Amino acid sequence: MDLGLKDRVALVAASSQGLGKAVALGLAREGAKLALCARSEAALTATAAEIRAETGVQVIARAFDVTVHADVRAFVAETQAAFGAVDICVANAGGPPSKSFADTTIEDWERATDLNLMSTVYFAKETLPLMQARRWGRFIAITSMTVKQPVEGLILSNAVRSGVSGLVKTLSNEYGPYNVLVNNVCPGYTATARLLSLAATLAQKEGVTPAGIEDRWARQAPLRRIGQPEEFANLVVFLASERASYITGVSIQVDGGMVKGLY
Ligand code: NAD
Repeated sequence: MDLGLKDRVALVAASSQGLGKAVALGLAREGAKLALCARSEAALTATAAEIRAETGVQVIARAFDVTVHADVRAFVAETQAAFGAVDICVANAGGPPSKSFADTTIEDWERATDLNLMSTVYFAKETLPLMQARRWGRFIAITSMTVKQPVEGLILSNAVRSGVSGLVKTLSNEYGPYNVLVNNVCPGYTATARLLSLAATLAQKEGVTPAGIEDRWARQAPLRRIGQPEEFANLVVFLASERASYITGVSIQVDGGMVKGLY
């Protein structure tokens, strides 16, 4: 299947490692030009070089924090100026810490809201008008399976990311008439640095090994294993493509069957 992604311009946020990096690499392998960002300059520069070397696509890479609206605005403007368009935006960020409600502070709630909800709003504000003007666009939020089934100990993610689901569905209504598709992709347990750190936190709390925690997570999924970042990226790349042209307003999990509900 030709995904029709060659020379499309894709902005992928929080992409120096993990899911964002896998998505960026997947899009680059289909010939898309990339604009990447993350907080750590060194890691981001290395990722951009690796993707250029493997795929030969043009890559812009800028280090900044996606919770700062002015920086998101400048990055989108730079991408538009360099490539003449922003066709695809993948809104992503790090995840909030694992805590019980009793252990959270008001500052934790404000940080999680900035990190996962407001950063998505900033990318939507800056990129959707550009897509609307060209009557073609793909805006994809990366959230979590927690939007379909809350995970114990992840109350910040469970609560704040549901706001992103509501945002995505509403934006799909507003921008659908302009051929701009807005979707939400929800990872289950996937082998990245974020997962290792969650496993380490839980292991310490329970006095077991991180490997034991990962085994337990793997057993909970019907596929009986943790997912790989590339398996997650494959869906995002498809949704970003020409071939996903009649899919908008959906939240789809890539979780090995972990979510037990019907939808
Ligand atoms: P990761 O920790 O491996 O990578 C996070 C990336 O985000 C890095 O590139 C980091 O530099 C960047 N980043 C973090 N905070 C940022 C900020 N404020 N500004 C700019 N860049 C920032 O995480 P991951 O596993 O790739 O997860 C990506 C998202 O998916 C997170 O929100 C995570 O909570 C969520 N998620 C992951 C899993 C999983 O199992 N990996 C499951 C469900 C949800």
